[in-house]
Amino acid sequence: MKWINHQIVTGFVVCTVTDDALFTASSIVGAVLPDRVEGSPPKDSSAYWKWRKKHRTWSHYPLIYIALIVAAQLAKPLIPVPLSLIPDLLTYALVGALLHIAEDGICGKVPIFTPHKKYGIKLFKVGSWSEYFFAALIILICLFIRFGDLDLLRSYFGL
Ligand SMILES: [Zn+2]
Repeated sequence: MKWINHQIVTGFVVCTVTDDALFTASSIVGAVLPDRVEGSPPKDSSAYWKWRKKHRTWSHYPLIYIALIVAAQLAKPLIPVPLSLIPDLLTYALVGALLHIAEDGICGKVPIFTPHKKYGIKLFKVGSWSEYFFAALIILICLFIRFGDLDLLRSYFGL
């Protein structure tokens, strides 16, 4: 999935669930974290294939992000009150990273149980129209959850 779609989909999902602008902003920052950790692909052909071999391994291993969320939440009571929002902001950045991994898992393969064994379903090709359609669908679902009127929908479809 393109970075812009990672950020949009993650932002809409977190905003819908939390209704919090700061947590949403944090998740949007974290939504590209697993790819940023890997760095850009090298232009040199042999270096590229070396980089490619490690693509979506440790950087996309969800247990690391889950462990960091647990650590942030365990540290929360130790943080003084003026800074007490920091563990939650960090947590939502890491939630953004986890959503990134899940989003990669529907357009390729990502590790789940071990860093080098990958699983996934390829619903669409990265950068394709299908990807943008998927992102638009998630946005519509989030908007409907947030603002939807079930009675209006029932009357529209005659239910
Ligand atoms: Zn990725």
